[in-house]
Amino acid sequence: ERKQLYRLRREPARTVDGIDIKLYANAESREDVAEAHALGSAGIGLYRTEFLFLQRNEVPDEEEQFRAYRDVVLGMTGRTVTIRTLDLGADKADRTGLVMSDEPNPALGVRGVRLSLSRQALFETQLRAIVRASGYGPVRVLVPMVSCREEVVAVRKLLKRVIRDLNSSGHEIADHIPLGAMIEVPAAAIALPSFIGAVDFLSVGTNDLVQYLLAADRNNEALADLYSPLHPAVMRLLHAIIRTAHMRGKPVAVCGEMAGDAVFTPLLLSLGLTEFSLHPATLLEVRKAVRECDLADLRKRSSALLRARDREAIERWMHS
Ligand code: PEP
Ligand code: MG
Repeated sequence: ERKQLYRLRREPARTVDGIDIKLYANAESREDVAEAHALGSAGIGLYRTEFLFLQRNEVPDEEEQFRAYRDVVLGMTGRTVTIRTLDLGADKADRTGLVMSDEPNPALGVRGVRLSLSRQALFETQLRAIVRASGYGPVRVLVPMVSCREEVVAVRKLLKRVIRDLNSSGHEIADHIPLGAMIEVPAAAIALPSFIGAVDFLSVGTNDLVQYLLAADRNNEALADLYSPLHPAVMRLLHAIIRTAHMRGKPVAVCGEMAGDAVFTPLLLSLGLTEFSLHPATLLEVRKAVRECDLADLRKRSSALLRARDREAIERWMHS
């Protein structure tokens, strides 16, 4: 069966009725990037930069970051690479002293873009490294933990300045570097129409979105049953995010674990999703699932999915 699956590495992620779905890869290591490339991913949809900052005593400088990002871009040979800016917080072990380690509630603390905006020099260094890597292939910048418009506007301003500086010092960089927001804070999802104009693309982080929407810690074993995307609130919110993005002509992917689990593929397609970002280990399984789906049929069934009243009803929908 693995062999059958492996044959799919050269096949398109195309539904039975002929619609192409984009399957990007999540990556954080050289191995992930090589595998994503070999398995025919559309590009990197989420490059997590945290690992560069963890398990060490000082922050990586611009040169080290630049080389790491450039290698990812070169490794993908012209396919799009989406680099997420630092998503550190007190929930991730850190020895560089960047993070406030004694926060009472790390998941609701100074993490993601909040940390970046509070450490402007550090953030600018990372943006410079990313922008320099754009000279080697298509790069997009993705910002984690966005909760309001002001944060996107602040990042855009900084990114513009970095681009201007690098241009004027003669660096070869891309003409256009799309800026995107992770949608993983419920407020950002609900208020999306008010700030979607400020971004070029979106990526839905269902790991955190489910955690914050259901007020259920993603790492708490005692809540493992409750912590599930199969909640009517999650269905409705995902549907609304995807619809808003498509109406405004902005690409939207789901990059949480949910996107990499083939049991959810028909459900996500039914909600209107056309772009997924997932770990390369599950890329072929999801591609196989996509190839077995009839998109027109699934879209017709979306109203029934949105009417499902509880988890059991959603599961019944999935198995019918
Ligand atoms: C998410 O929250 O769904 C996500 C992709 O980001 P992370 O798992 O790194 O928080
Ligand atoms: Mg997240």
